[in-house]
Amino acid sequence: MKALVYRGPGFKALEDRPKPILQTAGDAIVKITKTTICGTDLHILKGDVPTCVPGRILGHEGVGIVDSIGAGCTRFRPGDRVLISCISSCGKCDYCRRGMYSHCESGGWILGNTIDGTQAEYVRIPHADTSLYRLPEGADEEALVMLSDILPTGYECGVLNGKIVPGATVAIVGAGPIGLATLLTAQFYSPSRTILIDLDDNRLEVARRFGATDTINSGTQDAVAQVMALTGGVGVDTVVEAVGVPATFELCQALVAPGGTIANVGVHGCKADLHLEQLWSRNITITTRLVDTAATGMLLRAVNAKSLDPAPLITHRFTLDRILDAYDTFGRAAETQALKVIVSP
Ligand SMILES: [Zn+2]
Ligand SMILES: [Zn+2]
Repeated sequence: MKALVYRGPGFKALEDRPKPILQTAGDAIVKITKTTICGTDLHILKGDVPTCVPGRILGHEGVGIVDSIGAGCTRFRPGDRVLISCISSCGKCDYCRRGMYSHCESGGWILGNTIDGTQAEYVRIPHADTSLYRLPEGADEEALVMLSDILPTGYECGVLNGKIVPGATVAIVGAGPIGLATLLTAQFYSPSRTILIDLDDNRLEVARRFGATDTINSGTQDAVAQVMALTGGVGVDTVVEAVGVPATFELCQALVAPGGTIANVGVHGCKADLHLEQLWSRNITITTRLVDTAATGMLLRAVNAKSLDPAPLITHRFTLDRILDAYDTFGRAAETQALKVIVSP
């Protein structure tokens, strides 16, 4: 089968690899119908993720059809159409029993990291019973690829951890796919203001289409002064960090209102300053989280009921034999205006 393989920092290749086989009783082999590329894959290609070694098939998102199941797999049958969660979970360890699937002792984020991933014709899914979701009849498969990772990430790490409530004021720093996924799912709670902050005017325009009440280009405008002007001088109740660099985390600290919450979603590769000299008396909360995908079932029902539409996040489509072009397009998002790219074997 064809697969996109990480070949060490800066190198990747589309290769012929053997079709995966069942290794344990809980496994399923899934034939991929749609997958995508994540910002995390670009981090791996830069060499930022040492757990992912050369030779690994990348990808942790996708939908497909169950091809075969292990003897211990009871919830799925060959032929079932399924959503693959970016987090694999045994459902039995101490972390799983607390709903913290991201830290599962024999799972967590392993796909396209410590085991072969979804950017291929087939993938082996461990703990299939508790890591796959049946697709509703007639579902838009492309849209549901957004539920493997970015929608649960925006919702759990941004909206839930950020304690967004009706009437709240919200700022989201970063209008990439994760920031936009946070914006989409924040609307479940009817915040009074959602302010999107980014350097890219195209992404801010998309954010307005997705329901942002205000947008700020922090490259040409003073983001702190603008947010203060929009919030009566107090700042926002919730600020979501959806970039992952020190400057944006510091900006969040300047935007949060007394009693507010900073919810970090970004993947940080280096240390960032914490301004306790300003924040010590302001009753704020700072949260961090790796997505657990505990909300995936709810998000599937919301998409099915049309109260959530992730399809507009998709900007480009490629076949698997052109996945190198897909990486190029996704990697040059500022020029190509790419958000999420769909790759179909
Ligand atoms: Zn991802
Ligand atoms: Zn577990």
